[in-house]
This record gives sequence, C-alpha cells and structure tokens, in this order.
Amino acid sequence: MWVFVLKRENASHEADLDVLWDFGATGLEEGEREVRAYFERRVDLPLIGEWQQAEERDWQAEWKASLRPVEAGRITIVPPWLRGEVPEGRLALVIDIGMAFGTGHHETTRMAVEELGRTDLAGKRVLDVGTGSGVLAIAAMRLGASEALGVDLDPVTIPAARENARANGLDPDGLTLRFVEGTLSDVRAAPFDVIVANLYAELHDMLMNQYRDVIVASGSLLLTGILTSKLDVVLAALARQGFSHVDTRTDGDWALVAARA
Ligand code: SAM
Repeated sequence: MWVFVLKRENASHEADLDVLWDFGATGLEEGEREVRAYFERRVDLPLIGEWQQAEERDWQAEWKASLRPVEAGRITIVPPWLRGEVPEGRLALVIDIGMAFGTGHHETTRMAVEELGRTDLAGKRVLDVGTGSGVLAIAAMRLGASEALGVDLDPVTIPAARENARANGLDPDGLTLRFVEGTLSDVRAAPFDVIVANLYAELHDMLMNQYRDVIVASGSLLLTGILTSKLDVVLAALARQGFSHVDTRTDGDWALVAARA
C-alpha cells in the first residue's frame, strides 16, 4: 500500500481531496498539517506531495488483540482466545466476534447480562428478543434457566448464536436452548417467565402488547437498548400494558428497565 502525503500549505483543501478520491484513494487521513491519502498503487497525481510506502496493517488482528474481558455481574464475557483469562470462581461466557451484535462491550449488553444475574432464573423459561450473538440467551442458561429461546429478524445472527452456544458447551439443537429467525409474533413456545430484549425504545413501545401476550403473570420483563432521553416512551408503554415498573439502571446515555407483569 502507498501513501501520498500532501502538506496542508500546498493543498487547496476540498478541491484537492476530490482529486485524491478521483485518482483512486482508498482512504484519507486529515491531520492539522498534512493529508495522508492511501492508494493500492502509485499513480500520477497533479498535486505536490510525497509518496511513501505504507506499512501493511492488519486492522482486524489489531482490534482483536485490543479486546479485553468484560465483567458483567457474576459473568465474565470473553472471546474464545481469552477464555484462559477468566478468573477462577466467575462464570465464563464465551462469545466470538462476528457479524452479530453482542460481544458484551456495549453498555446495553453488559447491563442486560448484569440484570439477568440479579434475576432468579433457576428453572425459568427465558425469551431473548433480538438475540444477535445469542449472548443473553446463553447467559440465561449459564445462570440457571431451564430453557432459553433467542429470536432475531436478521438471518446472519442465528448461525452465530448457535456457534456461540456450542463454544459454551450448550447444544443449540437440544430441547433447552434454541435460536429462531423471526420476531415475537413467530414465537410459538409461550409463555415465558422472563423476557429480555435489547432493542430500542420505540420498538419496545410497539412490542409492549406482545410482551404482555407471551409472559406469565408476575414474570420479569428486562428491556434495554433504551437511550435515557427516550425512557419516558418505555415507561408510558409499560404502564399502558399494566406492567409494574421495578427498577431503572443507567450507564452513560443508555438505560435498562426492569418491570413485572
Ligand atoms: N441481544 C444482543 C445483545 O444484547 O447484545 C443483540 C442486541 S442488538 C442491539 C439488536 C438485535 O435485535 C439485532 O440483532 C437485530 O437484528 C434484532 N432485531 C431488531 N428488530 C427486531 C425485531 N423486531 N424482532 C426480532 N429481532 C429484532
């Protein structure tokens, strides 16, 4: 890979940036004193600057190497290559990075795993709506649930979730843990003792009547993916459907709401 370094004093800004893109730049880094334009090969540019050979960097490998274990209540979430770093006595949850959301690094995933850890799951049936990597359904099983079902509209998530289940010693083809492509209206195994969903406020608002339809009396509803600025939308929908609000937790701009049916 090659980098064309253009000093700011020689650049007429926007017009020159357009030239770099037009001549095939694959990326631009704009610093205060210079612009660095990345190219697959050297080209004849009508600009004054200097060509340098760039060091090839494996961004994916660098990012993977920077990942650290995530502590979420009683659970430590790790990618497979950090499995050995889970301290003794903690529950390990192995989640590979992939196409599906849910490595545990997002505040909402972490809060949901923590909340599952505070919920009595022993012998309970859990529904995870928007399962992504399967992290919440798998966490529920690790925390003692008797059954968990993960549903997701996005087809790429289901193989990822199934693979993550296997990485945790769980059988995604067994009777207790399953992942299904679809949404709440596709769920045929109701009712559930616990519903956990990391979606977003407006969608929780829309789905609230369906949560009500598939939850047992006194069941726990754990909702996250909610921006704190949108909490009112979710609290109003809970009240509308007759759920009692139990608790709200926040982390930065994000909130998790726990309610009882
Ligand atoms: N549960 C994982 C976690 O907590 O990290 C992933 C959450 S991710 C923010 C939301 C997931 O919900 C995505 O995988 C998306 O495809 C899925 N999703 C969005 N709308 C949905 C719907 N109406 N029904 C089911 N899944 C949905």
